[in-house]
Amino acid sequence: MKTDLFPEHIRPHLIPKPKGELYYQCLGCGAQHSVEKLLYVCPECNAVLMIHNRHQEELHKLSGTLWQQIFDYRKMLKIPALKGIYRYHEFIGPILPLESILYLGEGHTPQIEASEFLQEKVGIRFFYKNDGQNPSASFKDRGMASALSSIKYLIDQKLVSDVIAVCASTGDTSAAAALYASYLGPLIKSAVLLPHKKVTAQQLSQPLGSGARVFEIPGVFDDCMKVVEQLSTRYPVALLNSKNAWRILGQESYSYEIAQDFDWDMTHKAVVVPIGNAGNISAVMNGFLKFFKAGIIDRLPKIIGVQSEHADPVYQYYLEPDKARRVFTPVDTRPSVAQAAMIGNPVSMPRVVAIAEEYNQASGQNNVFFVQVTEQAIMDWQLTANQNGHIACTQGGECLAGLVKAKAMGLIALNETVVLDATAHAIKFSEFQDLYFKNRIPRPYHIVPDPERVNLPELVSPENPDLIPSQEKRLEKSEFAQFVQEISEKIAQKMDLTPVDP
Ligand SMILES: *Cc1c(COP(=O)(O)O)cnc(C)c1O
Ligand SMILES: [Zn+2]
Repeated sequence: MKTDLFPEHIRPHLIPKPKGELYYQCLGCGAQHSVEKLLYVCPECNAVLMIHNRHQEELHKLSGTLWQQIFDYRKMLKIPALKGIYRYHEFIGPILPLESILYLGEGHTPQIEASEFLQEKVGIRFFYKNDGQNPSASFKDRGMASALSSIKYLIDQKLVSDVIAVCASTGDTSAAAALYASYLGPLIKSAVLLPHKKVTAQQLSQPLGSGARVFEIPGVFDDCMKVVEQLSTRYPVALLNSKNAWRILGQESYSYEIAQDFDWDMTHKAVVVPIGNAGNISAVMNGFLKFFKAGIIDRLPKIIGVQSEHADPVYQYYLEPDKARRVFTPVDTRPSVAQAAMIGNPVSMPRVVAIAEEYNQASGQNNVFFVQVTEQAIMDWQLTANQNGHIACTQGGECLAGLVKAKAMGLIALNETVVLDATAHAIKFSEFQDLYFKNRIPRPYHIVPDPERVNLPELVSPENPDLIPSQEKRLEKSEFAQFVQEISEKIAQKMDLTPVDP
């Protein structure tokens, strides 16, 4: 819609101008640092950072209702920079001019109500929000759109040049980083570090296809992360891991979209998020908090973080009910089909602790919970979801397993509506589905395929090998008719079909 057709009270707010003043806030010593340079940890104490807006209160001067209208009307704009996560510009990267914003189609992923059968089976109303429908097929694109836009801004302002972007990844970060960096080529070059044999073939093909330098490192993700941290402290490189606080800002859009999709009514809602490096759950909580403080939503949804029992440091931390006695201890991970979340020492742990505390306080009650699920439950629920019309990855399966667990534990009430984060597309993780169906899941995963869920292709061939059509040897007309006849009869038999009367 053309700008002059929008209601008069919306027009001044429709197209955002750069505003506000962002700064890095250290979660360790509390020091503040300028966002005008690339920074990933506090130079004084090495702790992780969050980005805040010094003028956030300014945003609270508009009523929550007006913000809702602004975001609803912005849906009608055709300006690329405002079509993705920056529909919520003022809450994500208010200092960025629209020219610096990168848009590759990320965000506004569909929130799909679970099939009737599946909802009955689980016994609660729930949705999958399919973040696998982002350009590189995972939610990491939200954070990358934000991180790369911030780098583009620094380049445009001539504050940095010849950027070399690096990240460690359980697969999806590198796919997203390589995609967004290659769009800005030749301004940026990217290199990704992956744990050797710990990402799927699809995930490995993504950064290779985008032209990034790909380094495979023996070990697990946590080991790669240490190397990348060393690189980013010793050399002038831009770190694209979720240590980068811009990633968190971008991923907050997930919550903004949920709020908008429910027409801003967050009463009796819960959101389930799988936890790996814990950047995403930090962002999801922070997003809802920001909208709550601005009066855009008047209720904070319940948050349920899920971890596999093979990689559960956050769950373990919160097992201790007494806040004062909680101690964070990294765990050694064991093989997990939720491989993108297979992290024993999450870099965003300090963020989770700080934000969950604030979230509970703002909610006036405990509103953030953590559950642990088995590898078996992850696989079984992922397959069940997908056999009922969804496209969940293994981490999406982990969310559904987490919902079932949370409900059994009484953490979810029957009148609540739940949104599950399907963090990536099913096809990225089809290797695990394959292993399950072929009964070849290695023992350390502790998964036994349920025959009811197994699905394998059946080859249907003619009895006479001379009747097999091939590109080299075409069949005679009568032979081919025989082939068609025989194959269709065999399939009809397998499917228990009876012929219709002529
Ligand atoms: C990265 C990732 C996660 C874990 O998110 P964190 O922010 O690391 O906690 C979960 N699922 C998928 C598909 C991912 O790519
Ligand atoms: Zn510090």
